[in-house]
Amino acid sequence: DFLSLSEENFFVLNSASFIQDSEVPFHVANLDDLHQKHIRWLRTLPRVKPFYAVKCNSTPAVIRMLSTLGTGFDCASKGEIELVLSLGVTPEKIIFAHTTKPQSHIKYASTRGVDMMTFDCEEELLKISACHTRAKLVLRIAVDDSKSAIRLSQKFGTKLSVVKKLLERCKELDLEVIGVSFHVGSGCTDSLAYRQAIEDARHVFDTVLLGFQMRLLDIGGGFPGNEGFQIQFDEFSKVINEALDEFFPADSGVQVIAEPGRYYVDSAFTLAVNVFAKKVVMDDVTRIRGVYNVDGVFGSLNCLINDPVVESGEKRYRSIIWGPTCDSLDRVTATYWMPEVQVGDWLLIDNMGAYTVCCSSDFNGFEKAHIYPVLSAQTWSMFNFSYFSDKFM
Ligand code: PLP
Repeated sequence: DFLSLSEENFFVLNSASFIQDSEVPFHVANLDDLHQKHIRWLRTLPRVKPFYAVKCNSTPAVIRMLSTLGTGFDCASKGEIELVLSLGVTPEKIIFAHTTKPQSHIKYASTRGVDMMTFDCEEELLKISACHTRAKLVLRIAVDDSKSAIRLSQKFGTKLSVVKKLLERCKELDLEVIGVSFHVGSGCTDSLAYRQAIEDARHVFDTVLLGFQMRLLDIGGGFPGNEGFQIQFDEFSKVINEALDEFFPADSGVQVIAEPGRYYVDSAFTLAVNVFAKKVVMDDVTRIRGVYNVDGVFGSLNCLINDPVVESGEKRYRSIIWGPTCDSLDRVTATYWMPEVQVGDWLLIDNMGAYTVCCSSDFNGFEKAHIYPVLSAQTWSMFNFSYFSDKFM
């Protein structure tokens, strides 16, 4: 039994009745999954406080659930800060973790008491000094992200060689620096990237001889979050815990935080897409059995389906999956081996919580996927019922 939290009503989601006659794609967002992930995080990385990266999926039900569980939030813009504050999060639980911010966003953070923010260059310091003198600054360093699916250190982070100069500039501008942050890249595959980055951060702490009270280490995101996340997450955590004990022991007085995005939401969302069109075509050599129209790259399937073919007794056909729009760029996958499906069938796609709904558009007038957050009755009763009674979407 799952309780749906959509709209203003609560109802037991016991059949697909709510999608009757609809062809609009939809996500089921399993909030229990967030709860399980959080428990695992607390057990596995006990010294690291998670600040969920809102950019990864800003669905209000996700923010509320994580806020109830007690995480902090990494916001990248005024809009994300506004959203998180509007859902009852307090300013000290927010880090403005974008190194290049429009001045108006910095001003907004200042008026709302969001003081913690990252920077990586002198120009950013000048803006902050003009608009937010109480800011508590976190210096983002560039680290080795060569083993990650999405590399970030080419765009963000300062090189270790210029750290000293930058910190001297902070001193001249009378700005307070409280710590160091890094991000090993999203979809990281190498646990040692964290170890090296933590060691690099230690190096920065050691070179700060300018009277700053450095007290925060932010180890960023990059943690896996799909169904098979556990083995890799445990491996990463072991390396991180050992590196923290070595370079930032518990009695060092340094608070450790992280900015996980993908970790929390990836497996919580399952996308259902309706096959509203089908064609059987021939290419030079093969008969392509299915050419299907579902949600596309302008919708939630902006991260292409890359799953390997799963062996099963079922006959599979080479298929192309197109998105619904008139744009020929809107191809979800060129070759995907799947059982034959018919117009009207629904396809279910797991692990669709990270960087999907937040990047989707209604290009061509195709509605964005709806989101149905659900919660088991057991988890429901564990939390304050009325807390979830506002309109969610
Ligand atoms: N923090 C920052 C500054 C980021 O840019 C990102 C992702 O781009 C994240 C955290 C979240 O990363 P992930 O989803 O890999 O945990």
